[in-house]
Amino acid sequence: MKTESKYVDLHTHSTASDGTDTPAALVTAASAAGLAAIALTDHDTLAGLEEAQAAGRELGVDVVRGCEISCGTEYGELHMLGLWLPEKPTSLEEKLTWLRQQRRERNVGIVAKLRALGLDVSMDEVLAQAKGESVGRPHIAAVLMAKGYVRTKDEAFREYLGDGGKAWLPKTVLTPEESVRLLSGLGATVSLAHPMLRKTPAAWLDAMVAHLKDCGLDAIEAYHSEHSESQTRDCLELARRYGLAVSGGSDYHGSNKPSIKIGRGYGSLRVSVQLYEELRRLRTAAGLPV
Ligand code: AMP
Ligand code: FE
Ligand code: FE
Ligand code: ZN
Repeated sequence: MKTESKYVDLHTHSTASDGTDTPAALVTAASAAGLAAIALTDHDTLAGLEEAQAAGRELGVDVVRGCEISCGTEYGELHMLGLWLPEKPTSLEEKLTWLRQQRRERNVGIVAKLRALGLDVSMDEVLAQAKGESVGRPHIAAVLMAKGYVRTKDEAFREYLGDGGKAWLPKTVLTPEESVRLLSGLGATVSLAHPMLRKTPAAWLDAMVAHLKDCGLDAIEAYHSEHSESQTRDCLELARRYGLAVSGGSDYHGSNKPSIKIGRGYGSLRVSVQLYEELRRLRTAAGLPV
């Protein structure tokens, strides 16, 4: 780790899922941004981790092995980050393989809906947009853009792919409990990603966090590109109330979310290296590897 670096980014995506930087390019971008550490947290895949770690060793950037898992609730999806995943997490790999299969079936269904709407798109075109094994709606959005059906990704989600869009289909996901237990059982640090993205009632979120803490939840991602200052404060307070640690990251996706910069979000995000050191300290105190 570069000793002069003051900031980290513990939530990023690469071409292994729906980001547009290769894992190595992402670590290069982190180094150029002067970050001490990043976590690579691709959706439903660990395929980018070795490449990112190799680049991290070369460039002096700590790379935390992570992933992001979508979880279903009555208020829509909550996302769970697993950080400091072990080298060969067989039970997790098996579950992620199953989740990617669910993604495939959903993607096929979405493409069929788009075709029924008269849009000439195919699964081959979607797979050509995806560079890794975890394929999702951003890759379908890229096809819609490339073929001139929409002008922006936002428009693709608004018109077709987002909740309420004409080609939307639900994704089969795990429950929050299942994800937390799975990740925690492997010795990962489990953080609830961007808790404020869904406008869930505060009392419901409180009860959920209390329950997930009993299942092994370790941290709350208070610092996130999409959190306002007051939402960040609410998250810090939530973490304090339940004795949870704090994590933070930009949710960088490369040019799939062009306004979000690594380590900086929309410009004002800063995740202090002290927060990273505290997560490491807690792991060490619990006898877990860092
Ligand atoms: P999926 O994993 O297939 O359900 O797709 C969800 C992903 O789509 C999220 O992880 C985001 O990266 C991306 N996404 C969601 N909404 C938008 C949007 N309006 N514009 C661009 N990307 C989006
Ligand atoms: Fe994403
Ligand atoms: Fe997420
Ligand atoms: Zn994410």
